[in-house]
Amino acid sequence: MIDTNRPLLNSTCPICNKPLGRNKNACSMKCYAKLKSHYKLCIICGEKFQDSPSNLNKTCSSLCSVENRKRLAADGVNTAAMKKANEMASKSPLTGRFETHMHAKEWVIQTPDGQIYKCRNLKNWLREHEDMLDGTVRQAWMA
Ligand SMILES: [Zn+2]
Ligand SMILES: [Zn+2]
Repeated sequence: MIDTNRPLLNSTCPICNKPLGRNKNACSMKCYAKLKSHYKLCIICGEKFQDSPSNLNKTCSSLCSVENRKRLAADGVNTAAMKKANEMASKSPLTGRFETHMHAKEWVIQTPDGQIYKCRNLKNWLREHEDMLDGTVRQAWMA
C-alpha cells in the first residue's frame, strides 16, 4: 500500500534543493520557515498560495487574477466618474445636473426662517430650491 502523505523519495526541499528525507515540506525547520514566508494570501479569495516575496502576484490563480483585474477596472471607472463629477462641480457648483453616489449622503439644511430640510443629495436639493441660493441658506450639514 502506498502512503500518499509521504513525499516521494526523490522529493527535494523547495528552498535549498536538498533531499527532503523524512520531512514533508522542507528539509529543515530553517527551510520550512523560509517556505512559509513565501506564502501569500490571495487578495480575492483569501486563500494561501505559494509565491516568492519578490514576485508581485497578489492572487492565487489565474481565475482570481482575472477577478482582480475586473475589480481594478471597476475602480478605474468609479475614479473617472468622480473626477468628472468634481470637474463639473467646480464649474457649476450648485446647479450641476449630475448625481453620483459621492453625494448620496443625507444632508440637513436649515433655512433662515428655521425650516429644516433633509435631503439625500445636496446638489439635487439645491437645484430644486435655487430660490434659496442667494446666500440665505444658513446651514447645511451631513446628518
Ligand atoms: Zn532545505
Ligand atoms: Zn484566490
